[in-house]
Amino acid sequence: MPPIVVMTGGGIKGAVAAARCPEDNELLLVHIDYGQPSAPEELKALHVLNKTFPSSSVMALTLPHVMQLQEGPGRSGETPAVGADGAVDKNGPSAPVLRGLLPVLMSVGVQCAWRVGASAVVTGVSRLCEATHLGMSGADAPGNGWRELVHSFNLMVDCLSGRGPRVRIETPLMDLGLPQIIKLARRFRIPLERTWTCERAGPRTCGRCSSCTARARAFVEAALVDPLSKSAPAQV
Ligand SMILES: [Zn+2]
Repeated sequence: MPPIVVMTGGGIKGAVAAARCPEDNELLLVHIDYGQPSAPEELKALHVLNKTFPSSSVMALTLPHVMQLQEGPGRSGETPAVGADGAVDKNGPSAPVLRGLLPVLMSVGVQCAWRVGASAVVTGVSRLCEATHLGMSGADAPGNGWRELVHSFNLMVDCLSGRGPRVRIETPLMDLGLPQIIKLARRFRIPLERTWTCERAGPRTCGRCSSCTARARAFVEAALVDPLSKSAPAQV
């Protein structure tokens, strides 16, 4: 069976997306450091999660110049939180990131697939989950932006593949909300306490960025205790 490339930042969604892949396929877990502050912690988490899959390996890549573009006119338009005094809350929700970052990362995933002979590039993106840190606020516009994006991207990959092996972007979690994904993670026995969600540098989660707050809200909606939360029993 051909290998499968899984794009993951060491978080819950990527781990569940990997867990839903057929066991007969070897998984290549691809992490991309594009300058995000959390990259080192993400990679640490991914090396732990790698051990939970029967046949998988980690490929760590860097895109060192991508974040240099984020201050230009291509930025996503998301604005950082402003406190009561009008000052930017540096500890609040995420800072803007490059608009359309996700397709950039998917392009790298396709390159990995071509290199190792993989038939699919799997991502854990969901149209129901916040993805501001992927620069995808535009895809949340009325209509079906997320599906159109993936469909268009696959058409482009088909054109570039020519007569070579076909590679598909697959999004198995597209229609699942984060509470559902967390329940699936439990079913797949993914060590949630070892996943990394925060958008900031470690070593601990901040609990305030958009990803941390979305995670906390999702655990409440799933009626589960996040093993990373202060109220959870200490991990051994
Ligand atoms: Zn955080």
